[in-house]
Amino acid sequence: MPSVFEVITADGFEQVAYCHDAATGLRAIVAIHSTALGPGLGGTRFYPYASEDEALIDVCRLAKGMTYKHAVCGNDLGGGKAVILGDPATLRSEALFRAYGRFVEGLSGRYLTAEDVGTTQADMDVISRETRHVTGVSESLGGSGDPSPATAWGVLWAMKAVAERLWGSPSLSGRHVCISGVGKVGGALAEHLATEGAKLTVTDVNTKAVDMVVDRDGAKAVAPEAAHAVPCDIFSPCALGAVLNATTIPELHCDAVVGSANNQLAAEQEDAERLRQRGIVYAPDFVANAGGVINIAEEPHGYDRQRAYDRIRTIHDTLLRVFDRAEADGITTAAAADRLAEERIASVSHTQLIRTGR
Ligand code: NAD
Repeated sequence: MPSVFEVITADGFEQVAYCHDAATGLRAIVAIHSTALGPGLGGTRFYPYASEDEALIDVCRLAKGMTYKHAVCGNDLGGGKAVILGDPATLRSEALFRAYGRFVEGLSGRYLTAEDVGTTQADMDVISRETRHVTGVSESLGGSGDPSPATAWGVLWAMKAVAERLWGSPSLSGRHVCISGVGKVGGALAEHLATEGAKLTVTDVNTKAVDMVVDRDGAKAVAPEAAHAVPCDIFSPCALGAVLNATTIPELHCDAVVGSANNQLAAEQEDAERLRQRGIVYAPDFVANAGGVINIAEEPHGYDRQRAYDRIRTIHDTLLRVFDRAEADGITTAAAADRLAEERIASVSHTQLIRTGR
């Protein structure tokens, strides 16, 4: 395992902070990848990592991903992420989250936290008693609430961009979409698509979730392991990561992949290239699922749902720029999205060299 400095210098991280509080059992790592566009914003993952090294690698990978996600979707935010090491089922307590909140406060706003795997909105409410640098708190505390409906709205607009590019119109009426995972995001997405007049096939390991969407939206059900191979216009992964890989990509029977799941490509470059070779349009996950972070980015301005949802619709335009760039440069859409993010970071951070006063 490389040293901490080897890990953080390899990808240009600004700061990695280790936090410890013996009384509550808190052991946390906050990684700030880049603050070139604004404070690093990303969730706090509470997870029983097998080792400290594994936690460090994960928090750094996730923080860097946030830099690109914020940059490409136009947020004035940088890349950050945090992990709390341990089993949330046994370790979570008010005191632990308050201790964690005080460490976040100590970073003076360079890092803004949010909910992630293993943490909840209620945890963010507790953290907010110790620091202002927390987002996604309850609406009653001035937050934007659960980001899932916003994420689903963004995926819908990503699909409209794909429809426009492939079929000349953003309409999804009559298009067949197969959604794998009808939880918070996939379920809300199914409802939007049904309203748009799309034909739906859905799957989930939770049969109750499937039954609900079948009854409500007239969807057809399919077994989880068969979903990626369903002949359809758009395959929409809204459950787990790594669903697009060397085995599944040759079995796809769709024109496009547009979903909310994080890290859909098992091997980022190779699988993006496999999709390109097959002529399947891939909406990079961190562009298609940015609705949640766009929503949260509106909180510091005084959250307004209409303004936030209007901004989320711009995922449509961003995606069209990604497709244009991929075509112009002869690269995958995933690589094109990275390029656009890097260019925005370089050009916007350059303006900070302009002095505005003493
Ligand atoms: P969720 O837990 O509410 O829903 C996920 C659903 O997937 C569940 O219903 C679960 O039963 C199902 N599932 C699990 N394994 C499956 C399998 N093998 N096949 C089919 N279905 C399976 O989570 P969510 O908030 O809807 O998020 C879905 C995905 O989108 C996750 O990858 C998440 O990281 C990503 N994402 C979510 C948000 C958000 O705002 N919630 C934002 C960005 C990205």
